[in-house]
Amino acid sequence: MKPKVAFFDFTGCEGCQLNKLNFENELLDLLAHVDLVEFREAMDETSDEYDITFVEGSITTPACVERIHDIRRRTKVLVALGACAVNGGINAMKNIQPIDAVREAVYGKDKYRFATLPAMPVSAIVAVDHEVRGCPMSQPDFLQLFKALVMGKKPPTYNYAVCVECKLSENECLLTKGQVCLGPVTRAGCEAICPGVGQACIGCRGFIEDMNQEAMLNILTEKGLSVDEARKRLQLFNAYEVAV
Ligand code: SF4
Ligand code: SF4
Ligand code: SF4
Repeated sequence: MKPKVAFFDFTGCEGCQLNKLNFENELLDLLAHVDLVEFREAMDETSDEYDITFVEGSITTPACVERIHDIRRRTKVLVALGACAVNGGINAMKNIQPIDAVREAVYGKDKYRFATLPAMPVSAIVAVDHEVRGCPMSQPDFLQLFKALVMGKKPPTYNYAVCVECKLSENECLLTKGQVCLGPVTRAGCEAICPGVGQACIGCRGFIEDMNQEAMLNILTEKGLSVDEARKRLQLFNAYEVAV
């Protein structure tokens, strides 16, 4: 029996799901070993039970809460896909403003017609077994995890900083060149792709466990940012975690 695989989307731009369609050659090989039973971006078949379920997007409404509980009940393994699902992602920036002000800015006088909640990662509501980080989610990460799950192996996890991969790649540190880089507190797994091309890390893979927020804020303010600007940099993808 091939494992039944499903993909669902919540609040996000669907970039993570579309990103999968960009590596169709590898994906087609993998799909030969599974039964794809839900994937709105590419097909309309359905099933009621799943072995492996990938969920994109953050939880932002009472309806999302109900739906993710339902999906969790029906799947054996749940994988959060991309920054929005893993740690609230860019959606969680709405959490740093009063929720009523956010509703008014988006819906104006109709604001009470649309229920909304602060943006949450999937793990804030149900148990998540695995995650693929990044905005959009990293393709090599996704393929590695997908293959491991299909083969019944344990997927890799990363709880060390982007700086480690950056050093291994022998990149020149952007902090020493005056740029503001979040590599010291951001989870590795992307092979330090941004610093590798001269762009500072903006934290899209979320933070390492027990990250030292105060030390990172100090580095950013030493680089010339105000405390408020420094905090906003940290909040770009991680406002669910970084307090106002
Ligand atoms: S993680 Fe990024 S690419 Fe993926 S759904 Fe969220 S905003 Fe879109
Ligand atoms: S460029 Fe960024 S990720 Fe690379 S070593 Fe410097 S701070 Fe770390
Ligand atoms: S270097 Fe930073 S911003 Fe770039 S992909 Fe990696 S975690 Fe994301």
